Amino acid sequence: MKQKILILGAGFAGMWAALSAARLAAMHERSDIEIVVLAPQPELRVRPRFYEEKVETLVSPLLPLFEATGVKFVQGEAQRIDAEGQCVWYRNAKNESTPEHYDRLVLATGSHLRRDLVKGAAKHAFDLDQLESALRLEQHISQLGEQPETGARNTVIVCGGGFTGIEVATELPHRLRQILGEGSTPRVIVIERGNVIGGRWSEELREVIREASDELGVEWRLGAEIAEVNGQGIVLADGEVIESNTVIWTVGVQANELTQQISAERDAQGRLHVNEFLQVPGYDAIFATGDVARAATDDKGNVALMTCQHAIMLGRFVGHNAAASLLGVEPLTYRQVNYVTCLDLGGWGAVYTEGWEQEVKLTRAEAKKLKLSITSELIYPPKADRKIAFETADPLAAFV
Ligand SMILES: Cc1cc2nc3c(=O)[nH]c(=O)nc-3n(C[C@H](O)[C@H](O)[C@H](O)COP(=O)(O)OP(=O)(O)OC[C@H]3O[C@@H](n4cnc5c(N)ncnc54)[C@H](O)[C@@H]3O)c2cc1C
Repeated sequence: MKQKILILGAGFAGMWAALSAARLAAMHERSDIEIVVLAPQPELRVRPRFYEEKVETLVSPLLPLFEATGVKFVQGEAQRIDAEGQCVWYRNAKNESTPEHYDRLVLATGSHLRRDLVKGAAKHAFDLDQLESALRLEQHISQLGEQPETGARNTVIVCGGGFTGIEVATELPHRLRQILGEGSTPRVIVIERGNVIGGRWSEELREVIREASDELGVEWRLGAEIAEVNGQGIVLADGEVIESNTVIWTVGVQANELTQQISAERDAQGRLHVNEFLQVPGYDAIFATGDVARAATDDKGNVALMTCQHAIMLGRFVGHNAAASLLGVEPLTYRQVNYVTCLDLGGWGAVYTEGWEQEVKLTRAEAKKLKLSITSELIYPPKADRKIAFETADPLAAFV
């Protein structure tokens, strides 16, 4: 009888988990191990690029790749995990509730932005978190030129000065000038609760962001707490109102809610604590990966971040280990000691750092070139070719 590895999610972690599991099963010539990916769409949505233009193009089809590697795709949305019965109930394409049995379950359902943190944000703010919401924002921005010229039309407020907030804020001055006309005076304001830019990052990196923001004319309101988002713009905790037709929410990423159905330890972002093999303690048949997993990357106390960089590698390890546990071979300890950041800074360029101390290695055009190669090549799925896919899915190979 076939044994099944069921992977929930076709994002960076889920896709690589499927390829890596298929690779190990093929290496052991075990065609009786079935690898199934269950997700709403058979495509990889390239979330790190959602601050760019032409959002609808930022998807990569997965069916040819899955076909080439013997991975089965099931379209649907998982709703209930029955850990005891080793079964997942999902809504299929016809909206029917359907069971899917598993021998090993890999939870790879990613994360989403919390829009309920401030009054009015869910109703009035835009975001870049998912394809649909990023499309809505792009469409809104592209139509700003048709609105009557007011300060509110010309002002974009970015709520939160984290990586996503910075990438969209620095991208916007150029785009707004194109839309509003060269003589226009667009304002982009980042509202940040902390008293310094990027309080948790290295001084070197913060300095680069400061310089780029100054040059691009991106304004920072530091130590500012947003109390409300409404139809006029935002209200700060001290009562100040900033009028804007475009408020972009970027704060508060949370692991997918399916994590709550597994009674195990979770961190503040809702991620499941996993052991070195990416298994959820207490559940031999359940693994977690990507944005839903809190995994140690080394022995120094560093933990994987909710990044594509970590999701890709976590996916390769988890697929390998889920298959290894069915094959009865030794699992691999997840390790990812190298950590880099490459932050897009719009028309200024980009910044590239290495290590957890974020030592700046490249800036401006040089870093931008690297950023483009990462986001438009490196993080995309491999070619739909079995040999190439399996080579790149090897967790111990030196890719990304
Ligand atoms: C605007 C933005 C910019 C970013 N920039 C960067 C960056 O510069 N660098 C970087 O490294 N990272 C960046 N990230 C983070 C990165 O995109 C995530 O860390 C990464 O996508 C996580 O991969 P994942 O596979 O865990 O989840 P995802 O890529 O979110 O994939 C989740 C998958 O699960 C599926 N799914 C969800 N719910 C269900 C369900 N109930 N049943 C079945 N399937 C389900 C989804 O459809 C999807 O296929 C950015 C994210 C955003 C939003």
